[in-house]
Amino acid sequence: MVIFASVLGLAVGSFLNVVIYRVPRSQSVVSSPSACPVCSARIKGYDNIPVISWLLLRGKCRNCNVAIPARYPIVEISTVFFFGVVAWKFDTTNLRVIFLLAAFLYLAAITIALALIDLETHTLPNAIVLPSYVVGIVLLTLSGYLNSDYRAIIRAIVGGTVMWLLYLAMALMYPDGMGFGDVKFAGVLGLFLGYLGWDVLVTGAFAAFVLGGIFAVSLIVLRKTNMKSGIPFGPWMLAGAWLGVFFGPPIVQSYLSIFSPSTGI
Ligand SMILES: [Zn+2]
Repeated sequence: MVIFASVLGLAVGSFLNVVIYRVPRSQSVVSSPSACPVCSARIKGYDNIPVISWLLLRGKCRNCNVAIPARYPIVEISTVFFFGVVAWKFDTTNLRVIFLLAAFLYLAAITIALALIDLETHTLPNAIVLPSYVVGIVLLTLSGYLNSDYRAIIRAIVGGTVMWLLYLAMALMYPDGMGFGDVKFAGVLGLFLGYLGWDVLVTGAFAAFVLGGIFAVSLIVLRKTNMKSGIPFGPWMLAGAWLGVFFGPPIVQSYLSIFSPSTGI
């Protein structure tokens, strides 16, 4: 399953490049074939093979020689790696995990797309965020139903609502620091984190502020920026969420053990 997910990741990564380029420009991701943004030459099938074509073309358009950013193969390779790690995390020898795996592979895919779009444009587009509610609710509900884990479904709904309200409150209090794109996306993350557990939800929500805060403070200390210049928060929400997914339970365990040392080893 790890190998299958990685191969799937190569194809998805290639599609994510299209999403990252076209969605902020309000272009359709399916209707028109891939074309060079500079000379408009259509990209032929044999020049559209993930990673390999970029290497063979030495990072240049076959028609006009304009440089093709290294971001393209990097996104493809990152998606392969990310999908492989997620498949490994959700041990898939049990077929009942398949919808949970699908849900988190979807989250991995939009993570790469949204992080890059937010860094580039400081927005989390509705075209990706809003359908993610539907995908998340459908896949997580199917997973909970198949495993008779109805508590997980309830946690997902509560998690999504709480995260949405938390970010809404912050956006209203600090309109300069937090956008409504972040609020809408917080609800999506809350669904996925809540499904996995309260410890995952709490760690994922909290880690975003710790990571984003450390980064912001170091930028200010290094005088690279000031408070006003606005660092997009989406990438930190995503980084925090994945930290929660992979390390939430052990982090919460060790945190709680500080207060009850008698339960140590
Ligand atoms: Zn070209």
